[in-house]
Amino acid sequence: MRKRIIAGNWKMNKTLDEAIDLARAIKDKAADVQNVDMILCPPFTNLSSVVDVVKGTSIGVGAQNLHWEAKGAFTGEISADMLRSVGCQYVIIGHSERRQYFGETDETVNKRIKAALAAGLVPIVCVGETLEEREADKTQEVVETQITGAYRDISSNDAENMVVAYEPVWAIGTGKVATPQQAQEVHAYIRSLLKTVYSEKVAETVRIQYGGSMKPGNAAELLANPDVDGGLIGGASLDADSFLGIINA
Ligand code: PEP
Repeated sequence: MRKRIIAGNWKMNKTLDEAIDLARAIKDKAADVQNVDMILCPPFTNLSSVVDVVKGTSIGVGAQNLHWEAKGAFTGEISADMLRSVGCQYVIIGHSERRQYFGETDETVNKRIKAALAAGLVPIVCVGETLEEREADKTQEVVETQITGAYRDISSNDAENMVVAYEPVWAIGTGKVATPQQAQEVHAYIRSLLKTVYSEKVAETVRIQYGGSMKPGNAAELLANPDVDGGLIGGASLDADSFLGIINA
């Protein structure tokens, strides 16, 4: 059985004080949560403080990006070791907003994944099609390219420990959510790709999250699917009650 994994992607939201308040509220409300890996992904400036707030609990902390180089003249960038040094365990890589606004490609996604793995961070790798691609019946083609690009030259041991987030771009922040059937279909397809590239064992071990307008009211039916192992939550993770509502679903 794969353990459920729910991560909150706070994106570019929350000042330091707001982030501490939100992390505290989530921690208090989540005291009884078991059997779910819960992860908070605040902006870089809040990582260290959020790590302090959740210290001693099972709540993990992740970053929203990293650079693949270890150090040097890369103004504005953050390395995997820097993330480790403040207590991060996870890092979101290849979010569609990074692909859309910041020139992220499958090649840079792969480089970032390798840097994360080398530092002992768990990558949460985002893939997903745009509305145009879905309407042109290209969802599988797009997801296959993104998955094979992301996993290029990654060992099966490392592959097993990575998390995939299937996030249809048309569902992110739009209030339009994939139907449980649409989500299950793509999750099962991603698992079949991992089986082809690696093995049944890797395919059955990797946890695949759904992301895209997941809310307390639609989480249960999405999470009821056999290949949906959790969620990557944007908007609804910015409020402790709605984030916990999803976790309790
Ligand atoms: C996301 O950005 O990863 C996301 C899923 O956003 P939202 O939940 O707001 O659609």
